[in-house]
Amino acid sequence: MEKITSLAKRRGFVFQSSEIYGGQGGAWDYGPLGIELKNRIEGTWWKEMTQLHDDIVGLDSAILMHPRTWEASGHVENFTDPLVDCKKCKARFREDLIPAENLAARKCPECGGEMTDTRKFNLMFKTHIGAAEDSASIIYLRPETAQGIYVNYKNIIQSNRMKIPFGIAQVGKAFRNEIVTKNFIFRTCEFEQLEMQFFVKPGSDEEWFNEWRKRRWAYYEKMGVKMDHLRWHQHGPDELAHYAKDAYDIQYLFPMGWRELEGVHNRTDFDLNRHTQYSGKDMQYIDQDGGNERYIPYIIETSAGLTRTLLMVLCDAYDEEKVADKGNDDDWRTVLRFHPSLAPITVAVLPLMKKDGLAELAKDIRQDLKEDFATDYDQGGAIGRRYRRQDEAGTPFCVTVDYQTKEDGTVTLRFRDSMEQVRIPKEELAARLRQEIKAYKREC
Ligand code: ATP
Repeated sequence: MEKITSLAKRRGFVFQSSEIYGGQGGAWDYGPLGIELKNRIEGTWWKEMTQLHDDIVGLDSAILMHPRTWEASGHVENFTDPLVDCKKCKARFREDLIPAENLAARKCPECGGEMTDTRKFNLMFKTHIGAAEDSASIIYLRPETAQGIYVNYKNIIQSNRMKIPFGIAQVGKAFRNEIVTKNFIFRTCEFEQLEMQFFVKPGSDEEWFNEWRKRRWAYYEKMGVKMDHLRWHQHGPDELAHYAKDAYDIQYLFPMGWRELEGVHNRTDFDLNRHTQYSGKDMQYIDQDGGNERYIPYIIETSAGLTRTLLMVLCDAYDEEKVADKGNDDDWRTVLRFHPSLAPITVAVLPLMKKDGLAELAKDIRQDLKEDFATDYDQGGAIGRRYRRQDEAGTPFCVTVDYQTKEDGTVTLRFRDSMEQVRIPKEELAARLRQEIKAYKREC
């Protein structure tokens, strides 16, 4: 993980928030390559969940919601972690993450000092809205995007004439006052979620639950992730959330071990029942094709972290490869083997030399590719070093412009994974790149 964290900083994927002030724990900034990668992951998910499904529509609801929302959802009462402090070194722990022997002896795992009793700690960030800071002005930063979907479900049925079964997808920020935020961007206080809530008729929920498990697994296959680094974990009775009938996590083998990437949950009719109760509004669905039968739909949720997926993609892509045997640093290259449709830069154009008109020619070629691809241009240093820099950024294709280009209009196309090079006419570049992206299969 240290290597990935350092590469992420060095190459402008992720920076610590407010670093010049010593950093803000639990918050990270996404640099030029990081935001591109994040946007592509989001775009891939959005396409998968909306464009490829006739029965799913999108939503962007507000982060600030009426505080009753969080009473109805159970977050005010239940969204807590068990917290213990060390009286001596003041370290703070989640009780469920402390080794059993320390817990039994109530001894701090770090300094051996005495620990406080366990107390419940609500993970929601609470603040005030408006000028008065009294209890009537309390408002929360949303800890999940799902509730914004539930409170809009009737609006969407009416405005978009949706019929059950149907889904609503949303990408957005969520905030949790996490006690432990180690492992880089894995668990942060401010993060983004990719959530889709699928509304189904009670009784068909188990079938849809299985269907969504299949679809989400297939999504990662399509993304080109190492499938032996993914597995299912079913929630046991003591893990199952108060609202869930069944729940599976997709876990990824991160450098620190198997950890949750996404949850697929059968949330039953819990949420819509609670919103009916707390808002006084009728949340029943009227089935006009089924004799006007009325019911509260069940909800199948797929909920992944966008920033956590980005960490997964970085870990999955990271590779160190021996490429020479000279006994120095150049023997090894660091390469991010991103799927080309996720890579922050798709193609880099490199003139062999700055002089003799090669730079101008390379810039023209880049200009031609810009409309269709994320491009980069680099003219500094030896060509081998420039390839290495692009490998480290995960750029799948490099185009090199040399003296022969001036003569016959051909360029060298270099492939990141195999380091192979082919010579093709520059006019064929765009079509060839499109074809390579579509046919891409990771082989190493
Ligand atoms: P965890 O057990 O890791 O705390 P959770 O079960 O509370 O996660 P959910 O509430 O199901 O998580 O949220 C759905 C997804 O949102 C998770 O699978 C994860 O990818 C992401 N997520 C949740 N909490 C965080 C966080 N603090 N930082 C980054 N991503 C998060």
